[in-house]
Amino acid sequence: MQMETKIVKAYGDPVRDKEVMSEAGLIIRSGGLVAIPTETVYGLAGDALNPDSSRKIYSAKGRPSDNPLIVHISKTEDVYKITDSFPEEAEELAREFWPGPLTMVLPKSSLVPRETTGGLDTVAVRMPVNPIASEFISSSGGFIAAPSANRSGRPSCTTAAHVFEDMNGRIPLIIDGGEVGIGIESTIVDLTGNKPCLLRPGIINVAMLNEVVGDVDIDPSIEGIVDRDAHPKAPGMKYKHYAPKGELYIVRGDLIKVTEKINSLVSVNRSKNIKTAVIATDETRDVYAADLVVSVGRRSDEASIAHNLFSVLRSMDEEDVDIIYTEEFDTPNIGPAIMNRLVRAAGHKIIDSSLRSE
Ligand code: AMP
Ligand code: MG
Repeated sequence: MQMETKIVKAYGDPVRDKEVMSEAGLIIRSGGLVAIPTETVYGLAGDALNPDSSRKIYSAKGRPSDNPLIVHISKTEDVYKITDSFPEEAEELAREFWPGPLTMVLPKSSLVPRETTGGLDTVAVRMPVNPIASEFISSSGGFIAAPSANRSGRPSCTTAAHVFEDMNGRIPLIIDGGEVGIGIESTIVDLTGNKPCLLRPGIINVAMLNEVVGDVDIDPSIEGIVDRDAHPKAPGMKYKHYAPKGELYIVRGDLIKVTEKINSLVSVNRSKNIKTAVIATDETRDVYAADLVVSVGRRSDEASIAHNLFSVLRSMDEEDVDIIYTEEFDTPNIGPAIMNRLVRAAGHKIIDSSLRSE
């Protein structure tokens, strides 16, 4: 059903945002959807306790209904209402990282409908730190299902304009809180087993988790190609995601070799009239001679790469390129989270720069 989509600005100030929040709260309480900024990416929000709202989220995103939604809260004590147990490790992680970009998977209470959890008996919970998100959650009933606001399969949204691209005509309201800070989705940790298990890497990395709860398992779906018929613990990991329209390849290895390899591939493509783009960094952008060269950020500031990654992937679609080569960004702290997104965007197509192509 087509509807008019309105964009309104919010400032993260309860007084200035009062009207926006009451309008948004009314929409949510009557079962409608609102897109909101968070510190990670924009979310598509609905009442997590209303099965109809969750069905609407799946339909607006075009998301498969077995891919569960994350429930967002604005105060820690609310987690006890939607979970059946909250182990010691969860307490410690909440104390350290909430509010913030950490999602925890826990056994769900009967308050949470299965429509929200993709049919699972567990629920993923997060408490965002973004003041607009936090204010919105508390003025909208306290329990907000909010997956990333992109259409299923597309890069996540880091600006209200990205949300409008994907959701125009599908939702009544987008709250514009400016560009998000982090730019990639939350770290997800499963706390339903004997040991905490990382399901999705994010800005809160393994070393930071280790400091709080000791050793953690790493879910195999993070590393490799996942069989669609298998049941990975984080169901979202089995779906194609983030892919631009052009064929994306990651070129891996020593940085000098990577730049040489990309330039030789670009010149072969040029001779065949194939429009080619390169995703580079500020440090390397000048060495490429492709049709389009875009810097995703600075190697010396890895947060800048995470911050710009999705908007760079989206910009590739506007330029209508046939082939895209990207450098590998295996930076020390956020590298695994960045590469997790990039590898999926590339459909696992990786070129080793040390191998000669004939
Ligand atoms: P998104 O909100 O779009 O960033 O995606 C949320 C992702 O969180 C899903 O795709 C799942 O992979 C994961 N997730 C959400 N709820 C659960 C859960 N109950 N158990 C395991 N993973 C979950
Ligand atoms: Mg998503």
